[in-house]
Amino acid sequence: MLIMMKAGSLPEDVDRIRRIIHELGFDTRAVTLGDRLGVRTVGADLDDLEAITQRAEVEQLLPIGQPIPLAAGQPRGTRSQVRVGPATIGDGFTLIAGPCAVETREQLLGVATAVKRSGAEILRGGAWKPRTSPYEFQGLGQAALELLEQARGETGLPIVTEAVDHASFDQLEACAEMVQIGARNMQNYELLKRAGRSSRAILLKRGISATLDEWLMAAEYILQAGNRNVVLCERGIRTYSGHSRFTLDLSVIPVLRRITHLPVIVDPSHASGDRRSVAALARAAAAVGADGVMVEVHDNPENARCDGRQSLSSEEFERLSRSIRLIEAAIDSPTEPVL
Ligand code: PEP
Ligand code: MN
Repeated sequence: MLIMMKAGSLPEDVDRIRRIIHELGFDTRAVTLGDRLGVRTVGADLDDLEAITQRAEVEQLLPIGQPIPLAAGQPRGTRSQVRVGPATIGDGFTLIAGPCAVETREQLLGVATAVKRSGAEILRGGAWKPRTSPYEFQGLGQAALELLEQARGETGLPIVTEAVDHASFDQLEACAEMVQIGARNMQNYELLKRAGRSSRAILLKRGISATLDEWLMAAEYILQAGNRNVVLCERGIRTYSGHSRFTLDLSVIPVLRRITHLPVIVDPSHASGDRRSVAALARAAAAVGADGVMVEVHDNPENARCDGRQSLSSEEFERLSRSIRLIEAAIDSPTEPVL
């Protein structure tokens, strides 16, 4: 646990808090969180430290082990919004949709037009694809960027696409409004620093086996390097389950809403790996308080070169979009402040 002290707290305030926690039987360490002081505890959980949160000198209690001064909740309790061209993530529920990989002009334009009609605000499409097997389609690279630009020209949708290394980052940056750092690169710290030097919005996916701490620390890398336009994306983690490609950790959404001001979206496509589960998980994401979903859509899912099994048809996406709007209207203010 990490206890963040209020601005202006003095070392003696920290000592007082540490003494109280020692009396409860836990070890502590004083830490510095940017320009704030804090206390790290070992072994204590939220219940143990309940009384501490009531103290005037304490700003908040974070269920994490490492300081994240930039990713933690803002002192005023506000949540950040991230602009992606004409779209804003963190203001209402944002639909991001498109094919796993850009394949052809017809495929991309067909999908882009359809998802725009169904209410998508951002177009996704992979140009460089991190694939498990080197024998699988690796993406069209630069040619895909040109097709994405054409699709934006025709639909007005801003683009999110993945950078897999520094070279692709440099190429993408000139074209895409939002750069994705994929699950496999979440702990590629040099790439995170590169993202931090960019002025583009960054979509940071959760690593396949990443804890909440590790994910937030990855976000902190980008923030610390100077880019404050970071959106988190829960895309499923590896568990013992065999019924689904990964296990979508929806339980992390309310926790993130309490401890970070960063917007968070959900990717039900890569989490499930099966189009029959995608709509249900996307609706659940809307209900649990995510700021949006990113869904794979293909004009011919059976013949997609990448992730066809988990891609929705345009018609299925249209139905999903309508049901999400109903959920949005049914839940009360999903925009309560962070703690
Ligand atoms: C993707 O969104 O295209 C992708 C490869 O996702 P992930 O990094 O979550 O596997
Ligand atoms: Mn995919």
